[in-house]
Amino acid sequence: MDCLFCKIISGEIPSSKVYEDEWVYSFKDINPQTPVHILAIPKEHICCIDEVNSSNSSYVARIFEAIPKIAAEAGLTNGYRVISNCGDDACQTVKHLHFHIMGGRKLPENMG
Ligand code: 5GP
Ligand code: ZN
Repeated sequence: MDCLFCKIISGEIPSSKVYEDEWVYSFKDINPQTPVHILAIPKEHICCIDEVNSSNSSYVARIFEAIPKIAAEAGLTNGYRVISNCGDDACQTVKHLHFHIMGGRKLPENMG
């Protein structure tokens, strides 16, 4: 399968890893939109939120268990935002489920 984030998980494409466990891989976004901009992804290929089901939702749970650790390690003591774009209207560009962890400054209230 020709998936950029699967290649990042396998190490075929290099990344700046910040966290890894059996289920989750997390790395710095290559084009940060905020002072801290990290991505957290499942180690299984899931295209997007639309494809989450009872067979793979444990990956999502593991990601959300990891996010507070990733945020603390990144120094996000004053809060952060987690975003997952799903599909074209949300401008999802990489079709492997990912959660943006963003912070390091006060973020705008308006997201749309
Ligand atoms: P999306 O727009 O699909 O929600 O987010 C995809 C994110 O992946 C973007 O923020 C983009 O900067 C990031 N990205 C795309 N290609 C690479 C890459 O090769 N390495 C890293 N670290 N991030 C990438
Ligand atoms: Zn993938």
